[in-house]
This record gives sequence, C-alpha cells and structure tokens, in this order.
Amino acid sequence: VSPPVAAQDLRALARVMGEGSFLRDGPGGGVERSLSLSQAVPYRAFVLDAPARLVVDFREVTWTGLPDGFDEASSVTDVATGRGDAGWSRMVLSLSGPLGIARAEMRTDEVDGTALVSLSLAPVSQAEFAESAAHVPPGVRLPPVPVVDAPDPGRDEALLMIALDPGHGGVDPGAQRRGQDEADLMLVFAIELREVLLRSGLFDVVLTREGDWFVSLPERVTIARGAGAAAFISLHADALAAGDARGATVYTLSETASDAASEALAESHDRADLLAGVDLAGSDDEVADILIDLARLETAPRSDSLADHIVEAMDGAGVELHPHPRLEAGFSVLKAADIPSVLVELGFISDMDDLANLMDPEWRETVQEAIRDALVAWAIADEARVGLMRQ
Ligand SMILES: [Zn+2]
Repeated sequence: VSPPVAAQDLRALARVMGEGSFLRDGPGGGVERSLSLSQAVPYRAFVLDAPARLVVDFREVTWTGLPDGFDEASSVTDVATGRGDAGWSRMVLSLSGPLGIARAEMRTDEVDGTALVSLSLAPVSQAEFAESAAHVPPGVRLPPVPVVDAPDPGRDEALLMIALDPGHGGVDPGAQRRGQDEADLMLVFAIELREVLLRSGLFDVVLTREGDWFVSLPERVTIARGAGAAAFISLHADALAAGDARGATVYTLSETASDAASEALAESHDRADLLAGVDLAGSDDEVADILIDLARLETAPRSDSLADHIVEAMDGAGVELHPHPRLEAGFSVLKAADIPSVLVELGFISDMDDLANLMDPEWRETVQEAIRDALVAWAIADEARVGLMRQ
C-alpha cells in the first residue's frame, strides 16, 4: 500500500492559483466550481440550509490568490472566504436556491504536485436539499446552525441502521492498481450495497462518505454513532506487498494482530490520518479508558459474531475466501466501543482475479447479497444475545 502523498504535502499551507480557479454556471441551472491549489490538502464539502449555502473546508489554504471576478455563477449570490474551525480554511457560497453536490473530486498532478478541486452543483428539490443539509460532518462548529448529530427523528425505528464505510477517499486513494483506486471501487460497492440493504425493507443505511473526499477515521465512527448505527462495516480492497494473497477476509479489532501482514495493513490504514494531523490516540483519561474497555468487552463478541456471519454467508454464496478469512488487527476505524464493527477486505486489488471480481457487477451483487443475508442472521442472533446480557 503506497502512502497517498508525502508528509510535507499535507502539513504545509496550499495557495490558491488564479489559473484554473473559477465559479461558473453549469449545465441545467447548476454551478461548476474549480479551485486550483499549489498542492493537495484534505478537504470536505457540505451544504447548509436556511439560508442555502455550500461550505468547502480545506486543511489549509491561503485565499490571497483567488482571482478577481471569481464568481461568475448566476445562482451564487456571495462568496466568503476565511478561517473555519481550527485547522481549516473555509469558503462559503451563498446559493439563490437548493443546489446539491453532484460531484466532488480532487485531482493531483503527479509531476508538479498541484491539485485541482472540482465541484459540481445541480438543482435538487427543497426536501432533498434540507435532507443533505442535515448531514453536516460531525465536529464542524457552525454557530448559526445547530450541528445535527442525533438520530433523524423522521426515521423508522423498526429498521436497523447499518453504517457502511467505504475506505479511503479524497487525498487518500487507498491501494491503486491498473488505473483503479481502492477508494473509488469501495464507494461504488458501498452505494450498491446500500441499495441491496434498503430493498430488503429491514435496514436503514448511513454512508460515512458519499463521494471522493477525505474523512478521518474518528469522523467515520462519529458519523456512524450520530446516525444511531447498530453495526459498522468498513469496506476495503487493499494491496499486499508480499505473497499472492487473494480472496475475502473479515477483520475484527484486536490489540494484537493475527499476523505480520494484518498488522502492516492496519498501520497502513492509519497513515493518511496521521499525515493529515488527525489525533488517533483518543482519550488519555484513565477513567474514560476503563469505561471504554468495559463497553468494548460487551461489544467485542457481537463484532465477532457479525464477522463470523459474513464469512459464513460469503462462503455459502461461493465467494472466494482468503485461506485465513477471519483475522484480527488494530484498525483505528473499528475502535467504536459501543458499535459492533468489522472491516471487510473484499479482495486484494493486487491480485488480478480479485481486481476483475471487484469490477464485475455480478460478483459484487453476489457479495452484497451475502452481506445482507449475514446481517439478517446476525441481527436475530444479536437480539437474543443482548437480551440475555440484560437479564
Ligand atoms: Zn484500505
């Protein structure tokens, strides 16, 4: 697994460059926003309602290079730039109507290291806009608008909320082979899996990211918790340097890794966050640590059970498994003490057959249905287990 970008790239301040930076009318009443940066930096984008705004945060950018007459879009009434939350530089576009984020991507020039952040906005209904405006990234402080981090009151309590976590994204493409990014493949898989789960009529689904942007590992857990998730499934397809590993593996959290390869994999997943300056150490409060350990003691067997069900369902569906399909390692994204969490390596992008599988919609559907069946079986077993624990 190659690190996404060099450390100095993420720590320094990026400059906005005039050429390539514009805000224009897009097709169908939309808006095209392009920002040319001297280097890649983590970013996030979200919308706010009442009044309608688009917020784009960068870690971090100096705005002085923003060209005069930057705003040529007829549905953008104002552009404000400045400092946002600690460590973030913020651009706020005031919108004349409900426009949703249709596409967001960052492309880095491999030769000179410059980055182009493109965002397309497209008209959406007022209801859709309000719905996306309710999903502000957790931890964002916006004084005039309350951050929504409680479960949506409109949601059907009979449905079990499942958090799907497409690994990597934004400046962290994950493993890359033959022009394919792990981040993109996992986003496609997660969006399709969401459909399969919703169609079952048994589950509600929250995605930790819905586009190609950077979300830190703690933020992924916070999004799941904010949605009231009953289970957390992180989706990956990494590359392995040594050996000819192939087939699916399901990981649960452990301080001691099953083997050296698992340990290296868990470490590689922390790298992008560490480069972005995210604190993964968590609480250093001893009392909090003890409470967290106690909660984890209850959650760990529930995570194990979920992992076992997924392995069993995949095996039953004829999905090729790794010779050791149930492994453990210290993945930071699995550290929610209160949510049963597993990390599924769907295959290894470094293996040609696995990569072909990941790109095959039929194969994906087989795996997605296996995961759905596993969740159904797990939920029944889990309800019985939790019932017993409460007695
Ligand atoms: Zn990964």
